[in-house]
Order: sequence, then C-alpha cells, then structure tokens
Amino acid sequence: MEINNRPEEAEKIAASVKHIHVHDHTCSIYENQTEQFSVVAPFIKFGLEGGDKCLYVADENTVDTVVSALSEFIPDLEDHMSAGRFVIVEKEDAYFEPGYFSPELMIEAIRRKTEETKQQGYTSLRIAAEMSWALLGGPGVERLMEYESIVNHLYEELDVSAICLYNKTRFTPEMIRHVILTHPIVIYKGTVCRNFNFVLPQYYTGSDREAADINHTLEQILDVENREQILRDKNRELQHMNERLRDEISMRKQTEEMLLRTMKDLERSNEELQQFAYVASHDLQEPIRMVSTYTKLLERELKDHLDERTRGFMFFVTDGAKRMHSLIQDLLTFSRVTSRKEKFEKVDLSIILTEILHDFQVAIADHKAEIYYRDLPVLKAAPFQIRQLFQNIIQNAIKFSGENNPVIRIAAENNGEEWLFSISDNGIGIDKEYHEKIFIIFQRLYEKERYPGTGIGLAVCKKIVELHGGRIWVDSEPGRGSTFYFTIPAGE
Ligand code: ADP
Repeated sequence: MEINNRPEEAEKIAASVKHIHVHDHTCSIYENQTEQFSVVAPFIKFGLEGGDKCLYVADENTVDTVVSALSEFIPDLEDHMSAGRFVIVEKEDAYFEPGYFSPELMIEAIRRKTEETKQQGYTSLRIAAEMSWALLGGPGVERLMEYESIVNHLYEELDVSAICLYNKTRFTPEMIRHVILTHPIVIYKGTVCRNFNFVLPQYYTGSDREAADINHTLEQILDVENREQILRDKNRELQHMNERLRDEISMRKQTEEMLLRTMKDLERSNEELQQFAYVASHDLQEPIRMVSTYTKLLERELKDHLDERTRGFMFFVTDGAKRMHSLIQDLLTFSRVTSRKEKFEKVDLSIILTEILHDFQVAIADHKAEIYYRDLPVLKAAPFQIRQLFQNIIQNAIKFSGENNPVIRIAAENNGEEWLFSISDNGIGIDKEYHEKIFIIFQRLYEKERYPGTGIGLAVCKKIVELHGGRIWVDSEPGRGSTFYFTIPAGE
C-alpha cells in the first residue's frame, strides 16, 4: 500500500511523534490507513533508532499490509524483523492468550514482555496496537476502559510506551469518547496532543463515579482557567517587551541621527580647517619670500658695516626666515594632498623612480648613496602623490644615513589584492618608541642643527597611502637601518 502524504506533511507529523517518550500511553484516532500509518511509521522508526524493541499488534490489517506500509518509511524493516527488534503479532497472541479477554492477565503479559525486553538489552518496549478486536463483543466498553485505565498506572512504572490504534469509522461515538477519556495523550490528525479531557484511572476503577465526574469537571475548569491566566500574563509581558523595544529603537534612532549630525559637522569643520591651512600657507608664501629676499639684500648691503653682535642678530633673522619658508612650503604640500583630489591614472613606478633619482643626483653624489630597485609595477594611482611618497622616504633614507654611505633598496611584492612596497636603508635607525609617532605631523626626533627638517614628510606619506586605501609602517632599530613598508591596493 502507499501512504500518500506530502514530504513536508510527513515531516511535520514525525516532528510531533518525536515527542512520544517512554512511559507514554497514547491513543491514535484515525479514519483511514494513510492517517494510521503516517503516525505509526515514525513512532516505530524512532524506536528502532533509539534501541527500543518494537511490537505491532495487527488486527484490522493483515501482517503483509503492515509490513508493506511500514517499509515505505523504514527501508530496512525486514532486517529489523529478522533480528527480532521488530515483531508483528496477531490479536490471538496478544490479547486472547487464555482464549478470553482479562485485564489482569493482559497487564501481566505486558509486564512480562517489558521485563523480557529489558533483559534482552533493549532501552524500552514500544507497542503499536490495533484495537479493532475490542469490537468483537469480547470485553465490552466497561472492561476495556477499566483495562486502559489501569494501563496508565502500569506505564508509569514500566519502561514501555504505546499507541493504541482506534479506527474512528469502526467504533461507536460512545466508545471513542471513552477512549479519549482514558488516554493522557491523544494523537489526532497527525498531532500528538496533551489530553485535557483525560480522567484519572480512579474514575473507571473507583465506586463513586458521580463524585469523580464532578471533581474531574471542576479540575478541568480550573486547569483551563490557569492556562488562560498564564497566557494572559505572557501576553502582557510580551506587550511590555514590545513597548520597551519600541522605546529602545526610537532612542537608537535618535542617537544615530545625532551621530550623523556630529559626523557632518566634523566633516564640515575638517574641510574648513583644510581650506584654512591651504589658504594660510599659500598666502604666507609671498610675505615670507619678501622677508627672505630683503634680509638677504640687507645682509649684503650692510655686511661691512656690522659689528660682531649685530651680525649674529642678522644670522638669526635670515635663518628664521629660511626655516619659515620651508615650513610653509611643506605645510602647503600637506594641505594640497588632503584638500585637492588628484585623479587616479596609470603610474609606471620605474619611470617615477628614474625621475626622482635624477632630481636627487646632487644629494646622491654628496652622500655617495647607492640605490637599488627592480621589477616595480604599473599602478592605478594619483601620480603626483605617489611621486611625493617615494621622494619623501628616499630623501629621509639619504638624510638619516649617519656615518654610513647610504645603501637603499626598493622592492615591490604582489599579494593578490594589494602591492606591498618596502624601502630599506642602512641609516641611524629609529627607536621602537617612535615607530608610530614619526607619522604624526611636526613630530621630529632630532634638533634642527643635526638633521634639518620640518616633521611633515612622513605625515604627508601616511595621508597619501591612506588616500589610496593602504597602510604604512616602519620596522627599525637604532643603528641597524630602517625599512618603511606601505601597501597600495592592486586595483583592476
Ligand atoms: P623630517 O624629515 O622633516 O624631520 P619626517 O616626517 O620625514 O620629517 O620624519 C619624521 C622623523 O622620523 C624624522 O625627524 C626622523 O627623526 C625620523 N625618520 C624618518 N625617516 C627616517 C629614516 N630613514 N631613518 C631614521 N629616522 C628617520
């Protein structure tokens, strides 16, 4: 036979059936074979997987029908049968052993079977039993329900679980009503339900049914009320939580808006500052050039008329003007990098290097510097800035060479997503303490007499690298030279 359930339907039923555990006494109320086996099959399957012994009592179906229906869900069912893990018996073997129905003997039989199962090393016994035999006049409603009722006690103490299979189309409504009352768990339309209508076994076994009935109804009313109360409380809690969440979201929104405003303000003031630095350094160039030119003229004119002391003053004036000039010049470069967006284009670094070395030829000759480089790539970058970057680092490598003749090596390595450049020298080196500070504007480590400079060069380099989406850092030790590293994304 074929059980025509859609896969998602079967999955839903299996998920519900998974909640049947050892000690559970359940009844399944169904109207056809599809309904019947779509519940029984996962019940047996989970049992076999979990090391249970499974027993099926066949009555309304033949053994062959049961095997064929279950095999659809459990492909290796026959293996389980030959191994004795899954057994199908017919009602004669199960309920009518002595030839008549006796709750006491039945219960004894279940107890015996469960103990035997445990001794064989199984986790527990799972029973799926077709109950149609009860229609044959044998026990009658009263005896059957008394039996089902006592079974509840039994199942509490034994390692057993069961689904009593009741075909709704074959039993009278009265019978089905009693079946529902005697099972603490009812399976209906593929869902395993905790049974609110379950009555305690005393109802069927005790003498004062009327009183038990009233108590049961009252307990039921109370139970439903308590459950509703819990639901109401949970609902209220949820509402509170919702309100809190709403408040939190609106607060977060406000904070976000504030942050956005602050960011915009910051961007604006940053732009203003850049503009200011540019205008200031640009406009200061002219007066400073005037001061330099005229102090030089004055110096030349008065050279022979000045005494020692005034000549000293004169030196300070010209030196100050000179330094002011280079400071303004460097500041202008720095603010140009940040305030002017240079277009990215193809830059051949070998050509850039040749040009830089040409510009530096005097310094290179003075310091007897050796500069090595090869295999430099063509990059998509801002040409003027890239030139500035290499120029500043090479200039420093020559300047901070100490007693040594500078030996400078430039290399490039492609890491897939980015290029890693290194420029190493054999100069005076830098203490670890200053490895980050040197990239901050105006940060210098030596007095101007020893190594002239403004402390802007590396700040410019950092800005340029960051504008290209890369990082810059130094590896160095005093007396052991320095290597400046930076990355530039490879681009397309
Ligand atoms: P400047 O060269 O104008 O002083 P930079 O920003 O270029 O400013 O460099 C900051 C400081 O970093 C320098 O004053 C120097 O102390 C140190 N420095 C830079 N490059 C090197 C190098 N190759 N070797 C040793 N020290 C260096």
